[in-house]
Amino acid sequence: LVARMRAFGTTIFTEMSALAARTGAINLGQGFPDTDGPAAMLERAATAIREGANQYPPGPGVPDLRQAVSEHRKASYGLDYDPDGEILVTVGATEAIAASVLALCEPGDEVIAFEPYYDSYAAAIALAGAVLRPVTLRPVEGRFTFDPAELRAAVGPRTRAILVNSPHNPTGTVFTRAELDEIAELCRERDLVAVTDEVYEHLTFDGVEHIPLATLPGMRERTVMISSAGKTFSVTGWKTGWVCGPAPFVRAVQTVKQFLTFTASAPWQLAVAHGLRHEMEWVSRQRADLEAKRDRLTAGLAAAGFEVYRPAGTYFVQTDIRPLGFTDGLALARELPELAGVVAIPTQVFYAHPERGSHFVRFAFCKKEAVIDEAVARLSALS
Ligand code: PMP
Ligand code: GLN
Repeated sequence: LVARMRAFGTTIFTEMSALAARTGAINLGQGFPDTDGPAAMLERAATAIREGANQYPPGPGVPDLRQAVSEHRKASYGLDYDPDGEILVTVGATEAIAASVLALCEPGDEVIAFEPYYDSYAAAIALAGAVLRPVTLRPVEGRFTFDPAELRAAVGPRTRAILVNSPHNPTGTVFTRAELDEIAELCRERDLVAVTDEVYEHLTFDGVEHIPLATLPGMRERTVMISSAGKTFSVTGWKTGWVCGPAPFVRAVQTVKQFLTFTASAPWQLAVAHGLRHEMEWVSRQRADLEAKRDRLTAGLAAAGFEVYRPAGTYFVQTDIRPLGFTDGLALARELPELAGVVAIPTQVFYAHPERGSHFVRFAFCKKEAVIDEAVARLSALS
C-alpha cells in the first residue's frame, strides 16, 4: 500500500458492522435504516431493469435524473443548475467528494474540514496528495460549533478548498445562517472553493431548515454542492449521488470521475429521478418519524447515563461516555457487544486530533422503535 494511504487501514464502519455480525449485537453503528424507501420508488428500479435500463448510461448521468435534480434544487432552494453541464451523477456522495478533491487540489494544497469529519474526507485529501487542516467543532451549550477565529487562523496561502458538511455527521449540528455567513465570508475573502456535503439535507428536526451554502451571496459561483439519495430515500445501498455547480467545476469533477467509474448504475438513477419528483411527501413523513426516534433514543441514552447532544439533523446522536466512568470511546465500542449487546461508532476516529474526541461515541436512530427500545434497555445495564 502506498505510504500516503497507510494510516487508513479498515474503516470503522466495516470493523463495527463486522463486530455486530459476529456477536449478534444490535447495530446502532453504521448509519443505515432498517426499513427501505418508498415502495413505488423501489418498484421503479425493478421496472427499469425489466424495461432494459441495463447498459452504460451517459457519463454525466441519465438525463432524466439530471433534470429531476435540477428541478429539486430549484423547488427546494431556488437554485438554478443546468442539467446539461452543471449537474453530474456520481456513485454516491463518496465518489463525488473524492472526485471533487482530486479535481480541485494540487499536491500540497490545503483543504479545511471541520473535525470530527466523515472518514472519507481525510482519505480523499490524502489520495490527492493534499493536506487536511482540521478545525474542531466543540460543544457549546449542548450543540457542536466552531470558533470563527480558529477557522480564520486555519486559512493559509496554500488553502484551496473547504469541505462543509451540514447537517453534520456525527455531531447532528445543522449550521445556522450566522455560521454559514462566517464560512462564506472567508471563502469570498480568500478565494476558496467550498465543497458541501449535504447528504442529510432533508433530515432536520424541530422545524430547523437546512440552508445550502450556495444560496449565500457570492457562493453559488464558488461552491461544489454534493448530495445523494441514500439518506433522503432510505436506500443507502443504491449509491447514487450528484454534484451541482458552475460548469467549469463540474467539468473538472467529471474529468476525474470518468476514470474512477465512468458512470453510475442505470436502474437506480431512473428510480431516484422518480423519488425526487414524486416522493417528497414520503420524505417529510420520514423526517417526522425520525424526529420521534431521535427523541426516543436521546431520552433512553440520557436515562442510561450518557451525556447526550441532541441532534438538530442527521440520524445520529453524539454522546459523551465520561458520566458512565469511561474515557476511551474506541475501547468502549470494541467492548460494547460484550458489555451490553450493542454496537456504536467511536467518533475519535473522525478526528485529526483523536484526543479531542476520545470520549465521544455515536449511536444511530434510523432503526425500528423496538430495536431502539431493546438497545436502550441493554445499555441501561452500563450504569
Ligand atoms: N457524507 C456523509 C456525511 C455521510 O454520512 C455519508 C454516509 N453515508 C456519505 C457522505 C456517503 O454517502 P453515499 O452513501 O451517498 O456515498
Ligand atoms: N454514512 C454512514 C455512517 O456514517 C455509513 C458510511 C459507511 O458505511 N461508509 O454511518
